Amino acid sequence: MVDFPRFPILWGETPLMPLPRFARAIGAKSVWIKRDDLTGFAFGGNKLRKLEFLLGEALEQGCDLIITGGSLQSNHARLTIAAANRAGLDTWLCFAGSRWGSIQGNLLLDHLLGATCFLTGAYGSEGLLQAMEEKAEEAREQGRKPYVIPVGGSTAVGDYGYVLAWDELERQRKQQNLPPFDEIYLPAGTGGTLAGLACGQERDPAGTLLVGISVWLSKEKAEQEVRHLGDNLMREIGEAGEFSLQSVRILDDYIGRKYGVPSEEGNEAIRLLAQTEGVCLDPVYTGKALAGLIDQVKNRDASDKNLLFWHTGGTPALFTHASSLQGGRSVEHRLDCP
Ligand SMILES: *Cc1c(COP(=O)(O)O)cnc(C)c1O
Repeated sequence: MVDFPRFPILWGETPLMPLPRFARAIGAKSVWIKRDDLTGFAFGGNKLRKLEFLLGEALEQGCDLIITGGSLQSNHARLTIAAANRAGLDTWLCFAGSRWGSIQGNLLLDHLLGATCFLTGAYGSEGLLQAMEEKAEEAREQGRKPYVIPVGGSTAVGDYGYVLAWDELERQRKQQNLPPFDEIYLPAGTGGTLAGLACGQERDPAGTLLVGISVWLSKEKAEQEVRHLGDNLMREIGEAGEFSLQSVRILDDYIGRKYGVPSEEGNEAIRLLAQTEGVCLDPVYTGKALAGLIDQVKNRDASDKNLLFWHTGGTPALFTHASSLQGGRSVEHRLDCP
């Protein structure tokens, strides 16, 4: 039994809903969605499930300052400052690169939420972690007690939030008398969300394949990361079993040009879900992940399966990519209107 301290942020279970019009449009038997874009406040997203346990640990250790970071449009950074505000903790955000972008989307929200922001000149998860450790050293010299959260909030403590998310999904599924999902699709960044769900399923198997659509790492590298995070998590929660990638498949075919740059298939997926179901995705994570689901249905025989799409949030980034999203059917329709 685990007993990680928890700082409550979520309002309750996130909705589990069918997507009948979308399923029909892509020729799939059944597609459902888990709405982790609705995890509560500051526009929601998967990071809040991790932050409940990360901030729980920070508070237990008596820390007074949260240090984390990411790209300028990091959803994790935005949700960390939002959650830390509720916990009464200061936040320093360390950003990758050496140029400020426009104050839009997540970065605008970081400013509104009152974060202290640094541009580090560092790149990549490891470079950023080192920059954060240096900031933490500075903070200690000032008499502060910092708590450093690595990029994406992916530590065993944070990822535990997604072990519980698995339990939540299974509870909802049984309440609604649904058969097990054959495949669950979700974006994979650091892989912590995927590792958490996979550990959840190790404890309570449902025969579900977890399909992670990588948004930056190669398949091999992503598998290595998920295995590493899963091993740590299993050890931390005292599970006897070995973590295996048995229920996990990673696909790296939908990254497009690179991380953070929208892809045409991703943008099409965003339009299709919005126009059939009224649900908005983002172009960096969830749009690309849904493009993966659509391709697997249309070209690789996933059409007769019970599918679930796990919406991990990220919608504030939509507005920073307005120019790439302006093409397509939706705009023509609008121009045709009287
Ligand atoms: C961070 C993030 C992810 C990736 O989660 P990982 O646990 O890092 O794999 C997916 N979607 C959105 C919207 C995110 O912000």
